[in-house]
Amino acid sequence: MTDCLFCRMVAGEIPTDVVHETERVLAFRDINPQAPTHVLVIPKEHHATVGALVTADPELLGDVVAGAHVVATQEGLVTDGGAEPGYRLVTNTGPQAGQSVHHVHLHVLGGRGLGWPPG
Ligand code: 5GP
Repeated sequence: MTDCLFCRMVAGEIPTDVVHETERVLAFRDINPQAPTHVLVIPKEHHATVGALVTADPELLGDVVAGAHVVATQEGLVTDGGAEPGYRLVTNTGPQAGQSVHHVHLHVLGGRGLGWPPG
């Protein structure tokens, strides 16, 4: 059994609020949402960081970003630069950025105004 939380979610061992899934990507709601929309998009295969993922399998990173776009579309957040609300993608990498789960994930955040710069 793996001790990676997100691998265990992929394996169906932990209850997960899935909003989008493909053969290689899983998207689910964050357990501690920081915005009205807060979804995590992960590759099903384990890679610790975005750098590790893009080095090992850049096509899979593209699949993860495409999954985030599907989620943003489902949540009504996609913008073409016009008046639509928009959203933010975040990938925390390493301790100073606050990465707490060492299985790469994109946060899809939206549904409220998001401050800049982030904390
Ligand atoms: P990080 O801090 O690594 O950028 O993000 C990890 C995210 O995983 C956090 O936003 C945290 O709330 C979320 N998280 C931690 N444990 C669980 C869990 O058991 N289920 C879900 N859905 N999200 C989790």
